[in-house]
Amino acid sequence: MTNLEVASKQSGGKYSIGLALPLAEKLAEHLHHRLPGTQVQIVGSLRRGKALVSDVDILAGCPDGSKVAQALADFSGIDLHARETDRIAGYLPHRIPFEIILVQPREFACHLLTSTGSKAHRNRIMKGLETAPPTSFQNETQLYQYLDMAYIPPELREDRGEIEAAREKRLPELVELRDIKGDLHVHSNWSDGFENLIVLAEAARLRGYEYMAITDHSQSLPSTGGLNPERLSMQARVIDGLNRQQPGLRLLRGIEVDILKDGSLNLSDADLEQLDVVIASIHSHFRLDRKEQTRRLLRVIENPHVDIIGHLTGRMLNKRSGYELDLERILQAAAQHHKVLEINSHPSRLDIDEDVARRAVSLGIKIAVNSDAHHQGEMDLLRYGIFNARRGWVEAADVINTWSLKEVLDYFRS
Ligand SMILES: [Zn+2]
Ligand SMILES: [Zn+2]
Repeated sequence: MTNLEVASKQSGGKYSIGLALPLAEKLAEHLHHRLPGTQVQIVGSLRRGKALVSDVDILAGCPDGSKVAQALADFSGIDLHARETDRIAGYLPHRIPFEIILVQPREFACHLLTSTGSKAHRNRIMKGLETAPPTSFQNETQLYQYLDMAYIPPELREDRGEIEAAREKRLPELVELRDIKGDLHVHSNWSDGFENLIVLAEAARLRGYEYMAITDHSQSLPSTGGLNPERLSMQARVIDGLNRQQPGLRLLRGIEVDILKDGSLNLSDADLEQLDVVIASIHSHFRLDRKEQTRRLLRVIENPHVDIIGHLTGRMLNKRSGYELDLERILQAAAQHHKVLEINSHPSRLDIDEDVARRAVSLGIKIAVNSDAHHQGEMDLLRYGIFNARRGWVEAADVINTWSLKEVLDYFRS
């Protein structure tokens, strides 16, 4: 099996959420516009925020197929190939299969639950609903209430303990995008990012952030224009100057320091000490054996200058799985040394994944949901990291970039 097949199989799909979700949102908005007053919602694994999906499912509270087909006709790049009484199917741009499920408006809430899935979650929930007429619910909250459960957010609906937690009213208070107060992993044109610090600061301000860490690459990655100690101090002075000129947003002096083959870093302790945030990441030697790769990362975790481990497992969705690692040992060490683990929000990474994130927070490890933006527009990729965090049962309190600047800096210093 190729890596691509492995990644698809492991994640149960093949289209990145970063590709599928914007198209699905465009399609849903188009239907809203063309069919005013009709309930339209994205459902299926996309609503559950999965990293990879096999198709786009949309629920429409309109049983009249010809009306919906007509509304779809001028959606650019669409290819309709099947129309039945209760569904319309076809392809979106990039040949992503889609299906629009047509239902009676009064049964919308019930279908919302069944079409969102997952199958395992749905099967257990539907057992309790067998005698209730499908028209009895206005929304999903009422449905869960009828079963004496708290509302279960779609990202948790995988039958991984959420039903029991909902019954016992102990569901996690999942982190939301609006909780985020800053981004702790952003590249500028000092290395391989596209914009200068002023443009990036403006982009952060636009997003309502209180802080943003500038974390360019370090010198061992010359292809990225990685910073040597001289340029790093120069950049730190520019950042200090910008902070003096522009109150309201604090730019943090950071680095994404490259982890060398033996687990050492390619900047000195003195260089790292002057920074507010140190992210350490692996960008080479992906194929070390399990023992060596684990030892390499343990050495990084034990380094007192390191605050955050970037994209820990190195997986690239649809491309390669993560390195050979004793993950449990790494997590135990990260908990012991109070290292923050990143959820890298780039839709091709989403690293650490939901399972590792869930295990990490259960050990008391803090998470940073970062964009790793190389372009200001990529700062919005954070929403995919939030989906990933929510699927891992991560609460706002577990995510350090929902904290105030003072709390973040105190945590790094302690
Ligand atoms: Zn990186
Ligand atoms: Zn980066």
